[in-house]
Amino acid sequence: PPQEIVFDPNIFAIATGIEEHNEYGLAYMEAVRQIKQHLPHALISGGVSNISFAFRGNETVREAIHAAFLYHAIQAGMDMGIVNAGQLAIYEELDKELLLRVEDVLFNRRPDATERLVALAETVKGERQEAQIELVWRQAPVAERLTHALVKGISDYIVVDTEEARQQFARPIQVIEGPLMDGMNVVGDLFGSGKMFLPQVVKSARVMKQAVAYLVPFIEAEKAAAGGVSAENGSQGKILLATVKGDVHDIGKNIVGVVLGCNGYEVIDLGVMAPMTKILETARREQVDIIGLSGLITPSLEEMRHVAQEMEREGFDLPLLIGGATTSKIHTAVKIAPGYQRGPVIHVVDASRAVGVAARLLSEEQRPGLTAEVQEEYEALRRQHAGKRAQKRLIPLTIARQNKFQINWRQYQPPPPRCPGITVFPDYDLAELRPYIDWTPFFRTWELAGKYPHILQDPVVGESASHLFRDAQAMLDCIISEKWLTAKAVIGLFPANSVEDDDIAVYTDESRAARLATIHTLRQQMEKPPGRPNMCLADFVAPAGTGVPDYVGMFAVTAGIGLTDLTDRFLAAHDDYSRILAQALADRLAEALAERLHERVRREFWGYASGEALPNEALIQEQYRGIRPAPGYPACPDHSEKEGLFAALRVEENAGIHLTENYAMFPTAAVSGYYFAHPSAAYFGLGRIGQDQVADYAQRKGMSVTAATRWLAANLQYEPA
Ligand code: SAH
Repeated sequence: PPQEIVFDPNIFAIATGIEEHNEYGLAYMEAVRQIKQHLPHALISGGVSNISFAFRGNETVREAIHAAFLYHAIQAGMDMGIVNAGQLAIYEELDKELLLRVEDVLFNRRPDATERLVALAETVKGERQEAQIELVWRQAPVAERLTHALVKGISDYIVVDTEEARQQFARPIQVIEGPLMDGMNVVGDLFGSGKMFLPQVVKSARVMKQAVAYLVPFIEAEKAAAGGVSAENGSQGKILLATVKGDVHDIGKNIVGVVLGCNGYEVIDLGVMAPMTKILETARREQVDIIGLSGLITPSLEEMRHVAQEMEREGFDLPLLIGGATTSKIHTAVKIAPGYQRGPVIHVVDASRAVGVAARLLSEEQRPGLTAEVQEEYEALRRQHAGKRAQKRLIPLTIARQNKFQINWRQYQPPPPRCPGITVFPDYDLAELRPYIDWTPFFRTWELAGKYPHILQDPVVGESASHLFRDAQAMLDCIISEKWLTAKAVIGLFPANSVEDDDIAVYTDESRAARLATIHTLRQQMEKPPGRPNMCLADFVAPAGTGVPDYVGMFAVTAGIGLTDLTDRFLAAHDDYSRILAQALADRLAEALAERLHERVRREFWGYASGEALPNEALIQEQYRGIRPAPGYPACPDHSEKEGLFAALRVEENAGIHLTENYAMFPTAAVSGYYFAHPSAAYFGLGRIGQDQVADYAQRKGMSVTAATRWLAANLQYEPA
């Protein structure tokens, strides 16, 4: 009889971070409905706990998911199920916020539903766990409590505990040298052995700083009482850090500073845009032990080379550390080290390496070994580099131009923009940007390797990543609801044609008579196999000679208005963790704004893809028509091209971003670039170029060959005179 047949459609886990799984809750209910419709007498069962598998370990959230799932599945026609009945929450009694987020996931109601539930789940879980642990660790002796607070990064009791410790020691400095340093040593060991990760270390450093800040007035009072005799300096060594002239890269340098600081080094941070004379004067006056230079954009590589040469000239013999996004071991070996022979020059690939390198450099026994090791390695790199360069052949620019990327312009009708000219967004809604954030680079900033969202479940860094993610969500809530940051943007869509092969003439209006700007682009000169073109961005725009009316776009966006006030506030509160978090989030919001605006350009403002509707993952993977190359990136590596872009869009006035003398953007959380709409437009890397192209480019730009050589230094095939 039909009423004795029970169907058991599978229930699969939702909120796993894998997009296809988002529909699984709905799919079960739909299956139930269909079975009931076709087989009205049959019964339907289900194994419920599978649905919440992604939240194993978090019973509060699992119970809520089960309760909500059952509530809706029963309405759909479910008759029975397998579930832990003793652990079933009551639908009506669920916390409203939790229920909302659970149902968002269950019904796949928003693209960031999983993210939002994960964020909330972490707080639910966190409250419980910490509450339990708290009872135990608060009963330990004060030194152990301090260690615990440092290792766990808990600052709630740090002042009380520091005060208690201070009363137990004869002198306040002993609290630092004793229990606090002991605690930081544990942190250092755990970090060094890969058992603890950067976000936790930065949190520990925050606890340490708050304890030290509490003790400083007592130490000063003691000093004053002793007639100004200074307390001994327990530092491991003094390290000067600076971001070089023309560059505003801050976040990586701040991380390095914190990590060195919590390993007992005294860090003098000269901040961003530090001129060479200031760096060298400070190094001399403060008698530092090491200089560390940081940079984000390619012109900084030249700047670092100058600092190194000047150190040689002025007779320094201090170790010089090089770090930051565009720096590399090979560049350090080939371009920087040869200019400074008196002292070691070492490239430090990330913050976690800085401590080891500093420790070896400052140890009498280990320094000679390290120096010799690095010298040998860099010498080998230089030989390799010279060999490779001799092998690599370039073709002349004229030949490369004959092998340009071919587009049949007779068969292509460029879509005219729906909103031509400049559009300004004086205060972009941050809440709209949140779902557009690409979180993977956020974790990379904190030196946690892995792709979001899987990284949250990673067996090694998952826990650390989840805590960081939870903190990030909480701060993002404040940034959005309390308007801690303001986002601004400007876009421009203009008539344009390529001219003289490699330039793009941008016209003021459709008459194409007057030029608003010229975009100077560069062409690949490597020898290509047959059928492979020598790419240049100008190839994606119809040549003026074709008579085809084509267009290009430009944009500049920032989410960093107000960031400096925010980071200053955190700095004053001895809270590096929040400072770095705020910087990283501002960067994310700026990239999200670039992504969102590009989408709106395709759908609305230019409108050549009005029907496009892609999930964030597809946007991150660039599965849309058109590109937005950014000056300073591989296809158009010359940062100085931002000058023309900024003038055309009046970016300073319209979006509040300005350029430094080396064309870094400030606020740092900013992105600028071009829009190309042709379906074949694609990213590529310029690679090395020859002297012929540099001369041609200089002439087209109306700049001296010397200046062009300097801006293109990172791409030269030859050694400039
Ligand atoms: N989702 C990432 C987006 C930044 S990286 C994030 O949130 O960080 C991708 C961007 O870098 C592109 O949109 C483009 O602006 C730039 N880019 C990437 N490759 C490029 C290339 N070869 N030439 C020029 N610009 C490039």
